[in-house]
Amino acid sequence: MKGDGESIARELVDMVAGLYAPERKVPLHRPVFEGNEKQYLVDCIDSNFVSSVGAKVVEFEQRIAEFTGAGYAVATVNGTAALHVALQLAGVGRDDEVISQALTFVATCNALSYAGAIPVFVDVDRDTLGLSPVALRAFLEAHAERRDGGCWNITSGRRIAACVPMHTFGIPLRIAEVAVICDEWGIALVEDAAESLGSWVGDRHTGTFGRLATLSFNGNKVITTGGGGMIITDDADLAKRAKHLTTTAKVPHPFEFVHDEIGYNYRLPNLNAALGCAQMELLPQMLEIKAGVAQRYRDFFAGTGVSFVEPLPGATANWWLNAIVLGSEEERDAFLQYTNSREVMTRPVWRLMSRLPMFQQCQHDGLETSRWLEARVVNLPSSVPESEFPRLRA
Ligand SMILES: *Cc1c(COP(=O)(O)O)cnc(C)c1O
Repeated sequence: MKGDGESIARELVDMVAGLYAPERKVPLHRPVFEGNEKQYLVDCIDSNFVSSVGAKVVEFEQRIAEFTGAGYAVATVNGTAALHVALQLAGVGRDDEVISQALTFVATCNALSYAGAIPVFVDVDRDTLGLSPVALRAFLEAHAERRDGGCWNITSGRRIAACVPMHTFGIPLRIAEVAVICDEWGIALVEDAAESLGSWVGDRHTGTFGRLATLSFNGNKVITTGGGGMIITDDADLAKRAKHLTTTAKVPHPFEFVHDEIGYNYRLPNLNAALGCAQMELLPQMLEIKAGVAQRYRDFFAGTGVSFVEPLPGATANWWLNAIVLGSEEERDAFLQYTNSREVMTRPVWRLMSRLPMFQQCQHDGLETSRWLEARVVNLPSSVPESEFPRLRA
């Protein structure tokens, strides 16, 4: 850090306190319900359709499909469930391997474990914080071969069935390059776009580069349904299968209960979808306001020696969580200590998946950049400020 690290932290606390006034304690990310949320919830209760059948679920799916440009969207109870089913639909089965990031939220690896798969961790890029196409290609060239129409890990003898990159904090990774490599190697691409609703690469929404992708509407995400998720895809058959699997695999019939495989009770309830429909009406303005918050941080950190994480040229971030990269682990810890003790919530990035007890045996490529980032990245408060609420209602 140029100059005095503590003076930067002190000025930042003042800046954030001003930005989020009159809130006294500033959280990392809180939801905003300034639209038709209450009205749609009441409508939902009045209609008696509160559970997994109802018009709001279908409307929410249509809104997400339209917004992302995906052909189809299937709503689920949460993002983890969405990813579990998406992996199964991508052909991931027991004892298959799935290449992913060590720098991600644990839900990514939990979901692929539910699908019976074993994670393999490949490094991320320092600029995007997302899966590195260079590291992916290097890993495959060193450890994999193509045969019998699939891709096999020579070291473990297992099939590499899928690759699950994740757009960290809504910053798009080099997804087009990753898609080309997955294609060359016969690996299914499933994007974990849980954090990147509203993030684009050129005019393509994140989550539209692979066979399937998943979103999350948990309470801390850009928009929320309380809890919720979505599978998006351009493939009509996969979308149909997704709907079937997430609704207990019930065979359509006017009154009989017949199920033709083991399905899941993963459908998003209508109550949650009602919230989602109202939140989607606010999303474009929320993204504009969040870009304004990012601009404030960009200006603040310019010339301080602290680097503010930016999307690549041609890419658009949703600015879900703003992130900075500090000079060292010691600087990071001092920064976290100072800001959190003054009611400005800041957080380090997740502990790497490769260091968690349940995944520490998993194969990885050394993860040099992931480890470098793990010690330095910090998230900053990124909610829509109360002072901007009038713009949401306008
Ligand atoms: C939020 C999130 C998920 C899904 O989380 P749910 O809480 O199950 O909706 C998955 N992956 C990542 C990277 C996430 O941030």
